[in-house]
Amino acid sequence: MNIGIDAGGTLIKVAYMKNDLLEFEKFPIADLEQVASWINGLDNIKICTTGGKATFLKSLLSQKAEQIVEFEATSSGVRYLLATCGITEESYILTNVGTGTSIHHINKSEQQRVGGTGVGGGTMMGLSQLLTGITDYDSIVPLAAKGIRDRIDLKVSQIYKGTVPPIPGDLTASNFGNVDPMVSRTDLEKEELLASVIGMVGETVATVSVLAAGQYGVSSVVFIGSSFIRNEFLKEVVQSYTRLRGANPIFLENGEYSGAIGALLHVSK
Ligand code: ADP
Repeated sequence: MNIGIDAGGTLIKVAYMKNDLLEFEKFPIADLEQVASWINGLDNIKICTTGGKATFLKSLLSQKAEQIVEFEATSSGVRYLLATCGITEESYILTNVGTGTSIHHINKSEQQRVGGTGVGGGTMMGLSQLLTGITDYDSIVPLAAKGIRDRIDLKVSQIYKGTVPPIPGDLTASNFGNVDPMVSRTDLEKEELLASVIGMVGETVATVSVLAAGQYGVSSVVFIGSSFIRNEFLKEVVQSYTRLRGANPIFLENGEYSGAIGALLHVSK
């Protein structure tokens, strides 16, 4: 069996073929040693690793493993997923919203890192914890989806109240910029705070992606990363903000496994 493993800052993503079907697993990075023991117990396998913790993972494995550069693995996995979905996009921006966010320009023959932002899934987790005390991803995300951002975020239309704004009124003029000085943190519902955190992450990620798309003259942005797992709220923010700013967002099913798929493809060559 061939196995591709993407060991990132927060999660380990694994891809392998079983009965001709692509299978996926994910584990918290804290379980790296258990993942290594699981792999060490398998026979007749070929492994390729990628991601920031790939070297450490390899040091825990009892057999030789290949390692490839994360960005290469990710772009190869994305090409594979796009092809399986029948999407024929050849030149696009790829935005990976992982613990942090990295942005690439991909075309037929090459991929180039454009930049990134430290605002990403880790920000969602850290800021949510600081503001509400909630640490669990699967608690944060559904609560955020119930929150209304109006008491926390300031929209362009609120600043231009009564007049026609020069840019779409629905754009956020200032994330967290509408907090009344008389209001304390405990006066705000956890849902509101979490919604604003995810709103800020989504808008930042969409904005930098759209700027990158403009820089490279492309119209589509492919969004991947575990920050979108069961997170329709983040998807909606990113989708509407990307459209509002004139680009075409594409979300890939299983996109968070792109790096692991790229590693699997490499070892299966
Ligand atoms: P990395 O490769 O840096 O680990 P990922 O693409 O796996 O990045 O994304 C990590 C982000 O995914 C986290 O910061 C968090 O926002 C989100 N996430 C999704 N599911 C979980 C989970 N079960 N536990 C922790 N974070 C999760």
